[in-house]
Amino acid sequence: MEILEIIRRNYKWEGPPISNDPFFGLLGIILSQHTTDKNAWQAEKMLEDKFSTPEDLILVGKNYIKNIIKTAGLQNEKSNTIINVARAEAERHAVSRALKMNWQDARKSLTNIQGIGEKTADVFCMLYLNAPIIPIDVHVKRVSYRLALSKSNNYEGIQRDLHLLVKPEYRKETHLAMIRFGREVCKSKKPLCASCPFNKVCPWYLSTIKA
Ligand code: SF4
Repeated sequence: MEILEIIRRNYKWEGPPISNDPFFGLLGIILSQHTTDKNAWQAEKMLEDKFSTPEDLILVGKNYIKNIIKTAGLQNEKSNTIINVARAEAERHAVSRALKMNWQDARKSLTNIQGIGEKTADVFCMLYLNAPIIPIDVHVKRVSYRLALSKSNNYEGIQRDLHLLVKPEYRKETHLAMIRFGREVCKSKKPLCASCPFNKVCPWYLSTIKA
């Protein structure tokens, strides 16, 4: 609890830019996987500047979208999911309706769209529905594992353990701070353990590096 409190207070981050339009916001979250915030935002802006409606995206088709979002990488998978989201919105207002649901139902409904996983749905619900949840991205997962904040290695287990440690009103802030801490200090390769505030209590450091 104390560790997460220190991370939340000392590694504040307001998060990457997000669209005011939740439909394009969801596309932005899809684009943000495995790339930098800058590249994801650039690709999302291109889509938002070029297209006004989900129908426009369906009309131009996957190959056209693939080219536009190239900067964000994984364009094949991402363009498939973007088309699936556009179809879900055009045919059954999946995103607009999710915004009128409670976040638990919205999460369930969004994960019915092919390509939308738990993390993408959680980030959407956290950003656009103020859901009190900690989405588990690669940085949150790594930091949780190294600092033994969770014994689980699956998404639900890690999230459940972190939720037990963080009050609902601090979960979004904690999620963002953990990402910043994971990017700047507890990096995947060459973590800055020597200057890390947790190096006297970090099980991973004490058993892997220092041992
Ligand atoms: S001591 Fe190293 S491994 Fe542990 S939290 Fe700090 S940076 Fe990460």
